[in-house]
Amino acid sequence: MNHASPPPRVRREDRVLAEVEAARDEIVAFTAEMIRIPSVNPPGACYRDCAELIGRRLQATGLAVEYVEAEGRPEHTAEYPRVNVVGRGPAVRGRPRLHLNGHFDVVPPGEGWTVDPFSGLVRDGRIYGRGASDMKSGIAAAVFAVEALRRAGVELAGAVDISATVDEESGGFAGVAHLCETGIISSDQTRYAIIPEPFGPTRVCLGHRGVYWFDVVAHGHTAHGSMSHLGRSAIEDMGALLEAFRTRLAPELATRISALPIVPEPSRRPSLNVNAITGGQADEGTQSPCVADRCVATVDRRFIPEESLDEVRGDIARLVRSVEDDDPERRFTIEERMVVHPTAAPPGSPLVAALSRAVEAVRGRPAELVASPGTYDQKHFARIAGIEHCVAYGPGPLEEAHQPDESCAVDDLVASTQVLALAALELVGPV
Ligand SMILES: [Zn+2]
Repeated sequence: MNHASPPPRVRREDRVLAEVEAARDEIVAFTAEMIRIPSVNPPGACYRDCAELIGRRLQATGLAVEYVEAEGRPEHTAEYPRVNVVGRGPAVRGRPRLHLNGHFDVVPPGEGWTVDPFSGLVRDGRIYGRGASDMKSGIAAAVFAVEALRRAGVELAGAVDISATVDEESGGFAGVAHLCETGIISSDQTRYAIIPEPFGPTRVCLGHRGVYWFDVVAHGHTAHGSMSHLGRSAIEDMGALLEAFRTRLAPELATRISALPIVPEPSRRPSLNVNAITGGQADEGTQSPCVADRCVATVDRRFIPEESLDEVRGDIARLVRSVEDDDPERRFTIEERMVVHPTAAPPGSPLVAALSRAVEAVRGRPAELVASPGTYDQKHFARIAGIEHCVAYGPGPLEEAHQPDESCAVDDLVASTQVLALAALELVGPV
C-alpha cells in the first residue's frame, strides 16, 4: 500500500497571485521603460517608439501583435504618426473575450518637478515620472496580469486582448475611437473591457459624466472708443450673459444630483466652466481705441446621466435667448465644439462583480464603486463599439495625474496587477 500523499494542490488563483508578486521587479522596470519614452501629447511625440516597446512585450506574452495607424485622421502626420498597438489572445470560438486598454500618451510635464519627469526613477517604493500614474503603470498592470496567467500555466476558455493607444488626452479619436470605428474593437468579439486608468487599487470606476462644449459668440458693432455710444460692445453683452450663467443657470444646476457615485462628491452635480474668453483687440503691442464687435466665450458644461443632451442644449439656448430678450440690440450665436455622452456600466454587470471580488481577494476589503467627473476612452467603447460592460480600474493615485512629481506606489501597481489577473480569470474562465 502506498501512503505517499499527493503534493498539496495550490489553488489556481494563488498561483496567479504568486506569479504577479514574483514579477514585481519586471513590472516596475517595464513601467520605467515606458516612462523614459516621452510620448507627450500635444504634439503626439514618440508614439511609434512607445507602441513598439509595448508591442514587443505583448509578443513575449504570446499575443498576436498588430500596429494600427490612424489612416485618414488629420492628426496622423508624417512628423507625428498616430500608432496604436493591439495584441490578441488566441481565439476560442463563442467564448467571451476581455479587452484591456490603456493610453500611452502623456500630457506635457509642465513646471515644478523635483525629479526628471522622463527618468522613471524608483525611490522609497514609488515610481516617478510623467505617466507614472496616468497611465503607463496601468498598461504595465494589464500586460503583466496576462503574463502572470500564462506563467501560472492557466489555460483560458476565452481570450484576453490588450491594446495600447494614443491621444486619449486629446479625445482619443486617433486611438480607441479609431480602433472602434474600424471594427478592430467591436462588441461582436469583445464582451468586457477594462481601462486601467488611475483610480487606485480598490476603486472601480463605473463610468463618467457627459460634456457639452460650445462657443457662444456675442456680436457687437465697432466704433471709435472715445464715442462708444455709437457702437455696441460685444464684451458688455458677454458680461450680461456670464452674469446670467451665474445667477439664473447655476442655482438650477445645483438642484440636480446624480445617482452615479461620482467622485469627488461635488461633481455629482452638473457643472459649467467658462474655459476661455476672447474679445476685442488681441493683446499684442499697441491698442487703438475701438469698441469690441466680437466676444467669444468657450464653455464647458458637464452633465450627469439624469440629464439628456437635448435638455442641456435647451437650457443653454433658452438662457441665451432670455438674455437677448433683455435688450433688443443684443445678439448671440452658439457654435458647438464637442459632445460626449455620459456612460456607465449597466447595474449588475458581471464585469463589476468580478473586479469587486478580485479587489476583496487581494486587498481584503470591498471595492469602492465610483464614477468620474471627466471623461476618458470608455465613451468610445460604449458609444462606437457598443461594449456596455466597460469600466476603469487601475493603479495610481488619480490626484497625481497631470501633476508635477507624478508617481505611483509599487505596492499599488502590484496589487492592481493581481486584481486584473484574478478578474480576467473569472471573466474569461479557466478551461
Ligand atoms: Zn488617463
